Formats: sequence, C-alpha cells, structure tokens
Amino acid sequence: MDKDRKLLIAGNWKMNKTVAEGLDLVQELVREVNQVKEIDIVVCPPFTALSEVSKKIIESNIRLGAQNMSEHTGGAYTGEIAAEMLKEFLVRYVILGHSERRQYQEESDSLISKKALTAHAASIKPIICVGETLEQRESDVTKDVIGSQIRGSLAGLTSEQMLETVIAYEPVWAIGTGKTASSEQAQEVHHFIRTVLSELHGDTIAKQVRIQYGGSVKPGNARELMSQPDIDGALVGGASLDAKNFSEIVLNSI
Ligand code: PEP
Repeated sequence: MDKDRKLLIAGNWKMNKTVAEGLDLVQELVREVNQVKEIDIVVCPPFTALSEVSKKIIESNIRLGAQNMSEHTGGAYTGEIAAEMLKEFLVRYVILGHSERRQYQEESDSLISKKALTAHAASIKPIICVGETLEQRESDVTKDVIGSQIRGSLAGLTSEQMLETVIAYEPVWAIGTGKTASSEQAQEVHHFIRTVLSELHGDTIAKQVRIQYGGSVKPGNARELMSQPDIDGALVGGASLDAKNFSEIVLNSI
C-alpha cells in the first residue's frame, strides 16, 4: 500500500496463551510472514511468555511487545514490571492505556503519560491506546473524548519522543465485539487525531506518527481499513491468537 508511513501490525494476546501455546503460535507465524518486509510486525504476549517467545523470533522479522509496564523504574512495587526488565527480553514496544486497563485498573491519562515517558527513557516505543465508548459516540462527544485522551496521555513527550510513539485508536464498542468501525468512521477519527498531533507538535511531526486502528480487525476487513489515508496499521486482539488469521491480516494489508 502506498503510504509514507510504514504500517505496524501488532497482536495483543491479552491474558491468553501458555508458553507452549505461544511458541506454537509464533512458530507458525514466522513461517507465514517471514518474507514480509513492507510491514512492521509485532507480537505482545503476556509477561510469562516474553522470554521464550523472544528467543523464538530473534532471527525473524517479528518484533516483541509487552502489554503494560510500570511507570516506575524499579523498587518496592510488588507485582509490577519495569521497563529495564522488559528490555532484557528485547521488548521494543509496549501497549499503554489499553481500554481494558483504563476500565479495570482505572488507568488515567496522567498515569499513561508517566508510563510513556518511562518507556521512552528505556528506548521502548509506547503504543498508546485511545477510544470512546458507545455511549460517548452516541452522545456525539467522540472528538472531545479522544482529544482529551490524546493530550493527557501524551503530556510531556518531546517531539523526538513523539516520532517514536505509536497511537492506537480503538473504539471501545468495537473491541472484541465483532463490530468494526466502518473505514470512514475510523478514518475520520484518525484524521482528527493527526490534527491534534499537529497542534501539539506541528505538521511535520504529525505526518510521521503512526496511528493504528484496533477493534475486531480480521483478514476480511484489514485491506479496506489499511487503505484509508490516516490508518497506519492495526492493533489486533482476538484474531492475533490464531497464526493463520493474524498472518492473513498482515498479508492482506500489503
Ligand atoms: C484489542 O483489544 O486491542 C482489540 C482490538 O481486540 P479485538 O481485535 O479482539 O477487537
């Protein structure tokens, strides 16, 4: 697909896959997508599988991501994982502020921005998720919600850090529901996000930032979504748990 920004397709496994299951998945995935150079491909297993998955993909074109990390760099934070610990496994990306964490762990924009700064300090690229609920969309406040999530979660990032940051627009009503935003609905919000980025960091930076779409992306809708001018990849949940589905999303997006 003819775009200046390289597409980034990431699979968020969420709380799924034992180490053995994860290894089976990536083994097949490596086989299916090893020729792909046009797209950055990332898998985000649970913490428990990072080490083994990392070894399995080390010589492939697939990069490793984590699903969360602490805003702190270390110390007395029971149960937390620090950026440097992720780096040991060659983690390059970290998903921050996923709507499930916003909802179940009550993560705020300000916490997410702290995490993003911590990730950058360790040279891990944050994938920062934003998205409106169905109620917000129906009340016609989508742009207010997204604008404030973007400004809040990106607070304090320099323009250089912005270039190494990925945004994922994930309408909450489309996550795991089988309901995808239409490509027009998604494009409209992606374009709006780029406008906000331009206000924050100027046009040149805004044009270079990758904005992924997430929400029931499947092999059948990937091409159409990726063909939109401001959609630069996908954050895939359910369909990333199956090597065939995930690889077809990648291959259909070229
Ligand atoms: C997600 O949780 O990031 C996601 C997009 O999930 P799904 O693809 O299952 O809708």
